[in-house]
Amino acid sequence: MGVSGAPRRYFTDAHSAAGIRLVFTEAVAALDGDGSRVRAALGRSGERYPPDLVVIGIGVEPNSELATAADLATTTGIDVDSYLRTSDPHVWAIGDCASFPCRYAGTASRRESVQNAVDQAWTLARTLTGTPTEYREAPWFWSHQGSLKLQIAGIADQPDYSITHSDPTAKKFSIFRFRDDRLTCVESLNSPAVHLAARRVLASNSRPSPSDVTATGFDLKDFTSSKRNQV
Ligand SMILES: Cc1cc2nc3c(=O)[nH]c(=O)nc-3n(C[C@H](O)[C@H](O)[C@H](O)COP(=O)(O)OP(=O)(O)OC[C@H]3O[C@@H](n4cnc5c(N)ncnc54)[C@H](O)[C@@H]3O)c2cc1C
Repeated sequence: MGVSGAPRRYFTDAHSAAGIRLVFTEAVAALDGDGSRVRAALGRSGERYPPDLVVIGIGVEPNSELATAADLATTTGIDVDSYLRTSDPHVWAIGDCASFPCRYAGTASRRESVQNAVDQAWTLARTLTGTPTEYREAPWFWSHQGSLKLQIAGIADQPDYSITHSDPTAKKFSIFRFRDDRLTCVESLNSPAVHLAARRVLASNSRPSPSDVTATGFDLKDFTSSKRNQV
């Protein structure tokens, strides 16, 4: 999941203002402890960081050995088609392990998110109960940090440009990200209604253009309602 520079800076500033020190230029060389409790994380710089809590994040590489041993095609995960079917027509794969053709990323990719795992399960259930269904759900993600709720609809991994609507006094913003003039992603802060509208609009074929979004008074919720009424 990519987060663009503006939300990254916003969250960095918000945490700094709350007295949290973020250190991006350090690497942990070792944990110093007495066998029952970590006393300090030792940075490569030589600095000691006494912790309240140590969180260790590991395991970003997919383990596809089992699938490979079962003769399933694997690249960055278990390869599946748009119906989530593997190279063996009697085997399907969903969730973190499945590398599927993602129309939002424009390439085959794996998504590690609850939304992806749950929506792929719903899609595959339809196929297995007699209604062959392609996986086409718009991806979405969230991160709740204190009073700040960042919600992201779509994928914006590729180079693109963005248009921002913001209301700093209400601690709200929406960033509309485009690739080739096509809306690919909406990052919104404390704006759940915009996020829901973004998910609807990305899943549809009628997305707002850059000039729609820059027009005075543009509101994504109104845009989706008007498009629905036209159907
Ligand atoms: C710390 C952490 C925080 C996360 N936070 C978020 C978040 O905030 N938002 C979000 O959207 N996503 C989050 N995720 C990602 C999300 O949890 C996963 O994308 C989601 O759980 C994937 O579902 P899944 O069913 O594909 O895989 P899993 O939930 O990993 O389920 C796979 C299951 O298969 C079992 N299994 C593995 N190998 C075998 C085997 N050989 N035989 C039998 N069983 C086996 C495993 O034990 C496991 O129960 C987080 C993940 C982690 C680790």
